[in-house]
Amino acid sequence: MTTTTSTSTRNATVNGVVWWALAACHDLDPETFYPLDLAPRSDAVRRARRVCTGCPVLPECLADVMASEDPGRRWGIIGATTPDERTALYARQRTTAGDGTGVAA
Ligand code: SF4
Repeated sequence: MTTTTSTSTRNATVNGVVWWALAACHDLDPETFYPLDLAPRSDAVRRARRVCTGCPVLPECLADVMASEDPGRRWGIIGATTPDERTALYARQRTTAGDGTGVAA
């Protein structure tokens, strides 16, 4: 799979197609990914993660949410991660980058 990234992660393409058009969740009920119970091992989270882990654009999705999501308003299962997991990932990226940009090289 070839990924070409343009200036925006939203416009990144996979084999010439914008990544989100290939999303496994494209035709699914959004409620699947926004459960009330966000405990990492809850049935609802497991269901959403199962879809994400089989998604052909998981890396693009996770990159996009990490670049665009308001850290103070994380919600839902996106890119197979819970809001708490993305908060931790964001903190690790900031530590790794070490340049104040919040973006790991
Ligand atoms: S990784 Fe999950 S949330 Fe992201 S596009 Fe794929 S199915 Fe949707």
